[in-house]
Amino acid sequence: MKVSFLDLQPVTARQRDELIAAATRVIDRGWFILGEELAAFEREFAAWNGSAFGIGVGTGLDALSLVLRGWREMGLVHAGDEVIVPAHTFIASVLAITEAGLKPVLVEVCEQSFTMDPASPAAAINDRTRVLMPVHLYGQLADMEAIMGLARKHGLLVLEDAAQAHGARLGERRAGTWGDAAAFSFYPGKNLGALGDGGMVTTDDSTLAEVVGALRNYGSKEKYHHQYAGPNSRLDEIQAAFLRAKLPLLDGDNQRRREIAARYGREIVHPEVRLPAVVRGDEGHAWHLFVVRTCRRASLQQHLTANGIGSQIHYPVPPFRQQAYRELFAGIELPLTAALADEVLSLPLSPVMDAGQVAAVIEAVNSWQG
Ligand SMILES: *Cc1c(COP(=O)(O)O)cnc(C)c1O
Repeated sequence: MKVSFLDLQPVTARQRDELIAAATRVIDRGWFILGEELAAFEREFAAWNGSAFGIGVGTGLDALSLVLRGWREMGLVHAGDEVIVPAHTFIASVLAITEAGLKPVLVEVCEQSFTMDPASPAAAINDRTRVLMPVHLYGQLADMEAIMGLARKHGLLVLEDAAQAHGARLGERRAGTWGDAAAFSFYPGKNLGALGDGGMVTTDDSTLAEVVGALRNYGSKEKYHHQYAGPNSRLDEIQAAFLRAKLPLLDGDNQRRREIAARYGREIVHPEVRLPAVVRGDEGHAWHLFVVRTCRRASLQQHLTANGIGSQIHYPVPPFRQQAYRELFAGIELPLTAALADEVLSLPLSPVMDAGQVAAVIEAVNSWQG
């Protein structure tokens, strides 16, 4: 049996008629930017998440950088200030910081959870530190109680990178409701994906919501009057309409992801394959990705490919080793981050996988001899 790493066709096909109806609604209305679909989706997503405000933007990267730029406009953060971010993350977490004219300070993650270890930022905080940016990597909540405690103690702002963690929760409290603001991505492969690019800022701070709402629209609150030198980064009406149709399926999809992850956890048994740890309770993980570790990754990946099972590496080159940052991070050593980049492998995980496909993945991993 063939199992692709992620096939969005069957995910989208489940809602073919609703998505066509959503597109038709927008086409027939003839209003494509900053209209009622976006306003409704902002309200619906914020309410679903338990946030006071949602501001739809062009991408997850922009959601992150517009929060930082918003804090700069509000005078809370200044050019060159430091933002502490986990070194093991998707490059966008770091790009948002440099794009906002700030300095990323990379710290190692906790090896069990792959998320920010509150002990590492504690050592990195100095008088230029203004922001902590925990990343709920692979869908698992970072240790937000400890991180918020640290932030309050040192007077720091907290921006949650929740791009992979829509719906991860502790009790009723979801990812993106601990920090001063959060950024979500609706890139098609994310747990809630648009049919194109999209992103959202959530916050309970009405001032930040207003500033980000203006920033995304050329820095304008009133047409042709520009308070800030902002970019053009808005969530299209048609994407907002698609996302409104998809939001009601998100909790159920996350539940299905948890069931598949739990079965992988029970049935993948291989001495050389280390399974991901669940450290914030069952619902504290939205299982965007199921990431295993092995010292002989190339061999495992080859074996999976030979058995028709797709897999991917998130991420093969860490931000501190990227060409784009060869000067900024010159000479930095992050041994755990480097080891993870060499050892992590993501297995197929999608809410539409059936039991046979899940079994095929398990069997392929367990039969690996290398
Ligand atoms: C996807 C992602 C982003 C960026 O979102 P885009 O919508 O692709 O710009 C940021 N951070 C993390 C952790 C992500 O996975």
